[in-house]
Amino acid sequence: MPASNDVLIVTGASRGIGAATALQAARAGWRVVINYRADEKAAEAVLGQVRKAGSDGILVQADVAEPADIEALFAAADSFGALGGLVNNAGIVDIRARVDEMSFERLERMMRVNVVGSFLCAREAVRRMSTRHGGKGGGIVNLSSVAALLGGPGQYVDYAASKGAIDTFTTGLAKEVAEEGIRVNAVRPGIIDTEIHASGGEPDRVKQMRAAVPMKREGSAEEVANAIVWLLSDAASYVTGAFIDVTGGR
Ligand code: NAP
Repeated sequence: MPASNDVLIVTGASRGIGAATALQAARAGWRVVINYRADEKAAEAVLGQVRKAGSDGILVQADVAEPADIEALFAAADSFGALGGLVNNAGIVDIRARVDEMSFERLERMMRVNVVGSFLCAREAVRRMSTRHGGKGGGIVNLSSVAALLGGPGQYVDYAASKGAIDTFTTGLAKEVAEEGIRVNAVRPGIIDTEIHASGGEPDRVKQMRAAVPMKREGSAEEVANAIVWLLSDAASYVTGAFIDVTGGR
C-alpha cells in the first residue's frame, strides 16, 4: 500500500491499459496523475472513476515525444504531491509495413514516443524519487511488449525493436538505481483488447490472433493493470529488473 500522499504518474492514461492502471492504482491508494495527449473528455472520465474509487487525481495534457511537455507534466505532478511512482505506458504502433518500406519519419516518431519519451519520464522520476537526490524512493513500471521477443516480422519490426529497447532500459536502470530506493520493472503484454490495434489500421487483430494464444483468448486492460499495480506495491518489495509476461502463454 502506498503512503497516503504518494502520487503516481501514468502516461497515456486516457484509455486502454493506462486508464485501467490509473483506476486500479486509485483503488490501491495511489493519487493519480492522468496524462493524456489528445482526448481530454476520455481523460476526464478516467478521473471521475478514480474519484469514485475514493482517491484523487489530476489531468495533465502532455505529449511524451516533447521534452518540454514532459517537464511540464512532472511540474504539475510536483504541485499535486510527492512522487512515488511512474508508469511509462504511452506508446504507439504504426500501420503494417516491412522494414524496407519504413520512412525516416515513421522510425523517428516510433522511437521518440516509445523509447525517448520513456527515458525522459524516468529521468524526471529518478530526479525526484532517488534517495541520492533527497527523495524517498519509489517504483517505475515500463510497458514493453511480447513483440520485443517475437520481433514483429512483416508487421512492425520498428515497434518490436522499440520495446526491445525498453527491455534493456528496464534492466539497466533497475541496476543503476537499485541502491537508491527505486525499483524498476516491466510488463510485457500480449494480445490485449484495446484501441491500439485499430490505431495501427488493424481493428480485427484481436479476433485474428486469438487462435495463436495458448489460452485461446485476448487479455483485458485490467489483467495487465493488475500486474503493473502489483509491481508498484510493497508486495513486490524485493522485485526489480523483472519482467512479467501477460500473454495468455504466448
Ligand atoms: P492505446 O489503447 O492505444 O492507448 C494508448 C494511450 O497512450 C492513449 O491514451 C494515447 O492517447 C496515449 N498516447 C499515445 N501517444 C502519446 C504521446 N505521444 N504522449 C502521451 N500519450 C500518448 O494503447 P494500449 O493498448 O492501452 O497500450 C498501452 C501500452 O501497452 C503501450 O505502450 C503499448 O505499446 C503496450 N502494449 C499494448 C498491447 C496491446 O495488445 N494492447 C500489447 C503489448 C504492449 P492519445 O490517443 O491521445 O495519443
